[in-house]
Amino acid sequence: MKAIRRHIEGIGIELEQLLAGPVVVTCIPDMANVAWPARAIFAGLSRADLEAAFRRSPAGTVDPEGETVALSFNCYVIETPDYVALIDGGIGDGKERPHRPAWHRRETKFLDTLAAIGISPERVDIVINTHLHADHVGWNTRREGETWRPTFPNARYVVAETELAHWTNVHEASVDGNTLHGAFADSVLPIIRSVGFDAVASDAEIAPGLRLKPAPGHSPGMVVVALDTGEGEVLFLADAVHHPLQLGDDAIVCNFCEDPILARSTRIGLLGAAAARGTVLAPYHFPAPVFGRLTAEAASFRFVPLQIDAPGQPAPNNAR
Ligand SMILES: [Zn+2]
Repeated sequence: MKAIRRHIEGIGIELEQLLAGPVVVTCIPDMANVAWPARAIFAGLSRADLEAAFRRSPAGTVDPEGETVALSFNCYVIETPDYVALIDGGIGDGKERPHRPAWHRRETKFLDTLAAIGISPERVDIVINTHLHADHVGWNTRREGETWRPTFPNARYVVAETELAHWTNVHEASVDGNTLHGAFADSVLPIIRSVGFDAVASDAEIAPGLRLKPAPGHSPGMVVVALDTGEGEVLFLADAVHHPLQLGDDAIVCNFCEDPILARSTRIGLLGAAAARGTVLAPYHFPAPVFGRLTAEAASFRFVPLQIDAPGQPAPNNAR
């Protein structure tokens, strides 16, 4: 397995890719490297905690002066000879999110970026929503006039049945219809009412070598996704971990976790197994570089990015 960076002409961004035999995994951030007020995501952090986190975290991911942490929103495209899968759907374009200004009525190059790596919406066979939070389902749909239609018309949309049941119940009981900042209405319901979700067990095999694993806590039915590339396993972490600073202190829990105690034990279990097995991680919210392995150090972990191969150099000219 090796990681490379690919420059996308015209859009002017660099994408990280993982190459494993015939399998290509591309990270497409729907939003990259946003400075997020640290306590808006980790309420318990003191200034001293932030300074400690700064010292042990990758460069540029913690700003103790500004009291911010850097977050990305990384969708992943898996291309194999048998299928194209999208893991998580970002925030999406044109969504009404007045209570989340950074997510409100966006206009991005997400679909152009997909097209630039050769993935038209029609080519996507599988869309997996690891959970149904607003920042993971946005690209499920796109606006056509006054309606929201599936962005990927030929895809099988996959979600864990416990997750779908939970948020369907919440939505049906809600008075304002604004479940998940409105994402249930504009990014989940239109799928239910058109192509339908494939609501599966939390440990289901989705395609050969592609499997869900239960990861409850952040959301009741959240899953992570494991890909066996034939050259090792890649684990798409969803929101089991939000930021590298959590790797050094397992007590740091995100404000948005439904069941913080369960989320913490899920996180510790997944990270411990990944460190022991040398699994390559593909985190949803870490800023670049995104692909890496964990080393375990005492009670904490360190994220070690895969070395990124230099772009292809011209063959050396030996004729002197
Ligand atoms: Zn998230």
